[in-house]
Amino acid sequence: MSADFDVIVIGSGPAGVSAAFPLVQAGLRVAMLDGGRTQAVAPPRADFLTARATDPHQWAWMIGRDFHALRAMDAVSPKLRVPTQAFAFEGFQLANRIAATPFVAVGSLATGGLSNAWGCGVARFSDAEARMPFPVADLGPSYREVARRMGLSGGGGDDLSDYFGLDEDCDPPVPMDRAHEAMWRRYTKARTSLCKGGFRLGRSRVAVLSRPREDRQACDLAGNCLFGCSRQAMYSASADVERLRAFPNFHWLPGHLVDSIVVDGERTVVQLREPSGTCARLAARRLFVAAGTLASTRLVLQALQRREPVPLLSCPTAAFLLWLPGLLGQPRERGFGLGQLSYALQLTGGRTAFGSTFATTGIPMWELARHLPLGRSTALQVLRDLLGSCVVGNLFLPGELSDARARLDDRDTLRIEGGWRQADVEDLLREARRKLAGAYRKMNAWMLPGSFTPGRPGSDIHYAGTLPMAADPGAGQTSVQGEVRGLRHVHVVDGACLPALPEKSHTLTLMANADRIGRLIAPTLI
Ligand SMILES: Cc1cc2nc3c(=O)[nH]c(=O)nc-3n(C[C@H](O)[C@H](O)[C@H](O)COP(=O)(O)OP(=O)(O)OC[C@H]3O[C@@H](n4cnc5c(N)ncnc54)[C@H](O)[C@@H]3O)c2cc1C
Repeated sequence: MSADFDVIVIGSGPAGVSAAFPLVQAGLRVAMLDGGRTQAVAPPRADFLTARATDPHQWAWMIGRDFHALRAMDAVSPKLRVPTQAFAFEGFQLANRIAATPFVAVGSLATGGLSNAWGCGVARFSDAEARMPFPVADLGPSYREVARRMGLSGGGGDDLSDYFGLDEDCDPPVPMDRAHEAMWRRYTKARTSLCKGGFRLGRSRVAVLSRPREDRQACDLAGNCLFGCSRQAMYSASADVERLRAFPNFHWLPGHLVDSIVVDGERTVVQLREPSGTCARLAARRLFVAAGTLASTRLVLQALQRREPVPLLSCPTAAFLLWLPGLLGQPRERGFGLGQLSYALQLTGGRTAFGSTFATTGIPMWELARHLPLGRSTALQVLRDLLGSCVVGNLFLPGELSDARARLDDRDTLRIEGGWRQADVEDLLREARRKLAGAYRKMNAWMLPGSFTPGRPGSDIHYAGTLPMAADPGAGQTSVQGEVRGLRHVHVVDGACLPALPEKSHTLTLMANADRIGRLIAPTLI
């Protein structure tokens, strides 16, 4: 059997599409395989508040015809409980033979992967943060290229400009709501003392359009971000799949589930299940593995028959609720539902916490009630009166605090065990809570008692570092081109090959790295 394609890309998420563009543009025959799931329940077309007040069928997207939102109550992010987004997460662990305790292992079998449901937060990594076996400047053209394709907003010269490093690539931010405007005003007044205390605030940098493009509309502040944007203002890799399909040398194979990979001389072979359930094999000169960190790790460890545990990086997280008494009595208003303002907070030991604050409008009330130390009906009543003057915050700590491992067991299931370096994380979270409460208080925003809630290990969904790139890769590592040591012509191009995971959003970096690898490999195959 000769090679069917020049390159097979496993996965159509942010990493897969980013690696595919330079290959396809170079004229190579590229096949992209993915789980193929697509959205079954449409997001609301009216804005969130209007739809909540007037849509008689809202239960279908709020609760789900199969009561999805109520069944998945142990899920960690509200997005994992939203019926319109269920397709992005369903069936992943079973199909990819992944088992996790007590880690929350989230992955996707959808076209576009997890980017169907992500928070769109973007940032560049510095050299110290990325710890790549090459200067981060090598990612420069790739950062620029993926940023241009996705469409970013939020730049504009503030105290986080250096931290994000994206101002040149960003359109102006989406307008803030009343609560964020009020916090921003107070921050600009108290800025000097807040910065001295190690707290910096700026606009969130997000992969959301504040200006329309030919094929996507700009954000109209409908507030449905949690449910999926009917205007496609938020970036999803599924939109890039559509762009790739315009190339005649691009072969789109959704619903093709890869079970294993084999290196056979100069070819790489994937064994898969077609949509009909039939088993099949496809061969290529190169294989790009972009099935998401967890699934990619299983495929590679299985191909290597490597059963030693590998480290898994994931960022400890927490969430909290802020109350702005100055806005008490204000009704909830239409607005952007993703990060509006972001902060970076210096902690002991040179560590940084990062997070953003979000409007409460687009979040179902029971999500917030769950986290208040009150009975359910009292909590709902309190929230009804309070939410117009509240914002929700989240927090990420660096992934080096992770103490999770992934191991291929004797039945070729990937077992994920562990969580965080508990004592360190508890200390840092305590310090972060205290400092954040103090900083926001200066901005007249009060952290509600009992609302600061650490997430479960894995709930950050920022996974990386299982098959890290190294200048001189050892067993289970990858080269600077993502090529797996011991698996010739197999390149890992997603988060699995990132050597480090800072507290910042990592998806833009994994995309830039995938683009970089695509650009390096394309000329070798022409
Ligand atoms: C609620 C939520 C919020 C998030 N917020 C942010 C954020 O604000 N900022 C940020 O940087 N990141 C965020 N993330 C993380 C971000 O979504 C992921 O980092 C990103 O999607 C990873 O891209 P990927 O291409 O590596 O994998 P994925 O997006 O997981 O894509 C994997 C692809 O592989 C395919 N696949 C999987 N297994 C197989 C198989 N066996 N055979 C064939 N195909 C397969 C899937 O169908 C899919 O196409 C968030 C994620 C979630 C869920």
